This record gives sequence, C-alpha cells and structure tokens, in this order.
Amino acid sequence: MAECIFCKIVAGTLPSYKVYEDSDTIGFLDIHPTSPGHTLVVPKKHYPDLVNTPPEVAANLVAVAQKLVPSIMDALSVPAFNISINNGAEAGQVIHHTHLHLIPRSRDDGLRPWPASDYRTGEIEEIAKKIKAKIV
Ligand code: 5GP
Ligand code: ZN
Repeated sequence: MAECIFCKIVAGTLPSYKVYEDSDTIGFLDIHPTSPGHTLVVPKKHYPDLVNTPPEVAANLVAVAQKLVPSIMDALSVPAFNISINNGAEAGQVIHHTHLHLIPRSRDDGLRPWPASDYRTGEIEEIAKKIKAKIV
C-alpha cells in the first residue's frame, strides 16, 4: 500500500535498521523501542492486522520470531522476551500492516506487566459461554 510506512520499509524507500530478511519477511529495529533491541517482524505483503492475515503467513511470522529471539537475547545478553501483537487501534495498533513485536526483557528493566483484575460471581461462566457460542 502506497501510504503504509512498513510497505515503504519493505520496499526500501524508507530506511530501517534491518536485522533479518527472507523472501517473505523482514525484521527491523523499532524506532521507539520499549527496550533496546525491540524488533518488529513484518510480512513483506501488506495485511492490515492479524485477523486478516492468512494463517500460513501468520505462522511464518512466529517461525521467524523463533529464529530471531535467541540471537537477539544472545546479542544483548538478556534472558527473556515478550512477543506481542496489537490488533486494532483500540488495542494500540498504530501501523495497520501486520507485525509482531519482540521485546527483550531482563529482571530489573522496570517494565510493568499488564494489570490483572477479578471477575464478579458468575461472570467468567457467562463470558466463556458467549465466546464459545460465536466460534464457528
Ligand atoms: P503498533 O503500535 O502498530 O503495534 O506498532 C508500531 C510500531 O512501529 C511502534 O512501536 C513504532 O515505534 C514503530 N514505528 C513507527 N514508525 C516507524 C518507522 O518509521 N520506523 C521504525 N523502525 N519503526 C517505526
Ligand atoms: Zn503495508
């Protein structure tokens, strides 16, 4: 897509610090990292979000992540990482071209996990039922 930043990075018309490339996928450093080495894994073809990405393309992104993560951890001497996908603007997706975030983590990095909450009585059963009824 002409106006898509990640399509421009794939095409090479916008610069990036690319750390990985194969025929279908690129990996490059996020320009505003959550932690040093924060890497984005991006299919070369444009799909707007995970739900609208063919399953084989999505599976390949995970396979590339599995390949990259040990190298990133080794290069930066970190023991752990988060993998994350923002799907939809309300979930924080800003670039509407499917991508995985690989975020290196270490014990005292100061990043906080997502908050946890509690269900009121009966709510968890209700919600499970609603979701199951929609799965085709
Ligand atoms: P999203 O919020 O859509 O899941 O993530 C988009 C990510 O792309 C953000 O973390 C943002 O920092 C990164 N980003 C936005 N524009 C650019 C850019 O021009 N170059 C690079 N390398 N990363 C970008
Ligand atoms: Zn795109």
